[in-house]
Amino acid sequence: MSIQIRNVTKTFGSFRALDDVSADIPTGELVALLGPSGSGKTTLLRLIAGLEDLDPGQGSIRYYEEDITGTPVRKRRVGFVFQHYALFRHMSVFENVAFGLKVLPRDKRPAKPQIKNRVHELLRLVQLDGLAGRFPSQLSGGQRQRVALARALAVEPRVLLLDEPFGALDAKVRAELRQWIRHLHEELRITSVFVTHDQDEAMEIADRVVVMSQGRIEQIGSPAEVYHTPKTAFVVNFLGQVNTFDGRANGRVIEFAGIRVDVADGRDRDGDVRVFVRPHEFELSRTANGTPGLTATILRIYAAGSVARLDLQLTDGRLITAHVPQDRFAALYASNGDRVFASPRRVHVF
Ligand code: ADP
Ligand code: MG
Repeated sequence: MSIQIRNVTKTFGSFRALDDVSADIPTGELVALLGPSGSGKTTLLRLIAGLEDLDPGQGSIRYYEEDITGTPVRKRRVGFVFQHYALFRHMSVFENVAFGLKVLPRDKRPAKPQIKNRVHELLRLVQLDGLAGRFPSQLSGGQRQRVALARALAVEPRVLLLDEPFGALDAKVRAELRQWIRHLHEELRITSVFVTHDQDEAMEIADRVVVMSQGRIEQIGSPAEVYHTPKTAFVVNFLGQVNTFDGRANGRVIEFAGIRVDVADGRDRDGDVRVFVRPHEFELSRTANGTPGLTATILRIYAAGSVARLDLQLTDGRLITAHVPQDRFAALYASNGDRVFASPRRVHVF
C-alpha cells in the first residue's frame, strides 16, 4: 500500500473541512478524489502532499508504511500538477522541466549532460520534444499542462498528485488529455491521486474512485462498483442523472409513484425511503405488459445521440427522464403526446 490515510480531521477555524477521513491508495494505482466543489478534495490532496498540516493528534498519513505526518513536503518526493499552470513564465519549456533537477542538493543532482538527456526523455514522453525552446506564453493550455506534468515527473516522484489538472481547458482538449493521461499511467505506473469534480473524468481514467461530500468519504470503489452499487443516496445522485421518488418500504416491497416493486438486494426495510431510478433503467412500452410501470405522457424526445432521451410526464404531473436505445425507441413508434408505460428494471433505495 503506497499511501494510508487514517482518521484524518482538518479544521479551518471552527469549520471542519475533513471529518475522520480514512482511505488507502494502493501502489501503482490512479485514484480519483471525486466530489462537488467544497467537499474537501483539495484539502485532502494538500495534506497528502504535506502542503498543509493535520490538526494536532487528528489522524496520520503513511507513505509505504512510513509515518510521514510530520515530514516536510520537500522530503516526501511528490510531484504536483495544479489546475492553473504554475510554469515559470520567464523560463523555456526545457528550463521549466529541468528546474526540479537543477535545485536538487549537490550530491543528488545529475550532471549537466544527464539533466539534458532526462529532460528530452520527459518531453518525448509528453510528446513535446520539438517545443523545448518555447516559452509558456507560446503554448496552448493543453501543452502547458503537459509541460507541468513533465516537470512533476522529472524528480522521479514516489507519488504524483494532480488537482483538477484539466479544469481550465475546453471540453475537447480535456477529453483528449484524459485518454492521454490514462495511457501515460499505464506506461509509468506511478501511484497517482487525481482530484476532479467531473464524474465522467473520474469514471474514465481512475482505477479507483473516492467519492467525497462535505468533508467525508461516501464510498470507495472501482468506477463500476460506485456506479452500479452506490452505497448512499449522495453517490447515486452525484454519479449521473437520476429520477428521485419518495416511497414507502415494507420488507422487500417498495411502493412509490403508485406502483409496487420488489427490491432484490436482500435487505428488509420499513418506513419512508428515497427511491432512485436511472434514466436507462426504465423499460418503455406502449401497452401495460404485466410488470409494474408508471403511466406517462411523452413531452419531448431528444433523438440525437447514442440513445433516445425522453422527457415524460406522470399522471400526477411530475416529470421524469428515460433513456432508450435507438433501436428500441424506433420499435415503439412513439411521438410527442403519446402515452407510454415506464417500468423500472432496477431501483436504488435508501
Ligand atoms: P474542494 O477542493 O473539494 O472544492 P476544498 O478542500 O478546497 O474543497 O475546501 C473544502 C472546504 O474547506 C471549503 O468549504 C473551503 O472553503 C474550506 N477551506 C479550504 N481551505 C481553507 C482555508 N485555508 N481556510 C479556510 N477555509 C478553507
Ligand atoms: Mg479543489
